[in-house]
Amino acid sequence: MSGSTAPTKMSLPFLDLKAQFAGIRQEVMDAVTRVMDSQQFILGPEVAALEKEVSLLTQCDYSISCASGSDALILALLALEIGPGDEVITTPFTFFASGGSIARVGAKPVFADILPDTFNISPPAIQRAITPRTKAIIPVHLFGLPAEMKEIHEVASSRKLPVIEDAAQAIGAGYEGLPVGSLGLMGCFSFFPSKNLGGAGDGGMITTNDQTLADRLRMLHVHGARDKYEYELLGMNSRLDALQAAILRVKLKYLEGWAAARRRNAERYQQLFREFQLESVLKLPAAPPRFTHAHNQFTIRSSKRDELRGYLQTRGIPSEIYYPKPLHLQKAFAYLGHKAGDFPEAEAASREVLSLPIYPELTEAQQRSVVSSIADFQAA
Ligand SMILES: *Cc1c(COP(=O)(O)O)cnc(C)c1O
Repeated sequence: MSGSTAPTKMSLPFLDLKAQFAGIRQEVMDAVTRVMDSQQFILGPEVAALEKEVSLLTQCDYSISCASGSDALILALLALEIGPGDEVITTPFTFFASGGSIARVGAKPVFADILPDTFNISPPAIQRAITPRTKAIIPVHLFGLPAEMKEIHEVASSRKLPVIEDAAQAIGAGYEGLPVGSLGLMGCFSFFPSKNLGGAGDGGMITTNDQTLADRLRMLHVHGARDKYEYELLGMNSRLDALQAAILRVKLKYLEGWAAARRRNAERYQQLFREFQLESVLKLPAAPPRFTHAHNQFTIRSSKRDELRGYLQTRGIPSEIYYPKPLHLQKAFAYLGHKAGDFPEAEAASREVLSLPIYPELTEAQQRSVVSSIADFQAA
């Protein structure tokens, strides 16, 4: 290690949900009290109000809540009657649920490799993966950056394939002026606590402008019933509860401000990496001009990723690896018969990515210490 001053070990969380809660504590507690006083826990007015607010945010006619982002994907596939014998194309470089949901409905996940600059699914790779059995495409807006939706629609339209957005990490993001959730036939959102709009537990939402699909989704998330005890479809029990909805409604009011803080932090990282002359040794995340990034993660690439992460740990600086193993190499998908080398860009990303703290409450001093520690590692 170089330098005359001993490095100070700092205590920095990767995501500071306690700091976030401290700022909204009374409002959240009031919302919880309101629901407890009502003793109405499943669906009801709080859930309906949140669905309306998400429709406004995503500029969609319909929003249907459900129990998680994973369920949102499963429900979207069920609404399209996708199942055994069908193929659905998605990225291998994503959270498990993007592929797991496809397999869960009995369809075959077919992977298409990613673009190394954005980590998102490659439209030409989608084109090559299409077969007569392909029934849908699920692009993921990874880390909060929208996928190449225009090119994806061009590929999809040749076969009239529905595009389902996995927008779990990207609420509030946009593409050529349009919000994610409105960029495909359906948009799937997650309210897992670490997402940009996180609940006090699990939750999810599906957005669409298609009335027929909305109608089916409304049935599918309550066992397939249109009216009580009249079951038209084989659905599931996947509902958002009123406590989550009430808490999410409080937090939704702050989403734009938090997004602005995440954007400021991303820009500050870019500046700091330049200041420490690290842009040539590390690869910084892309920010294509047509996209509004939700900055759920700030993910750099390093050829010495594991050593860097270990070094940062000794300095008290947390980081995460999203994701250490691509889906095609997961044991759960061994039956698909993939091997290392099948999706080289996804595999390279899995070896090199490192996500740094980017949460809204992060201070400039904290960011500076993150980047100066990386500079120290590089100089050592
Ligand atoms: C979080 C996430 C999901 C699943 O959401 P849950 O609410 O945790 O079920 C799906 N896809 C992606 C890309 C995610 O990040």
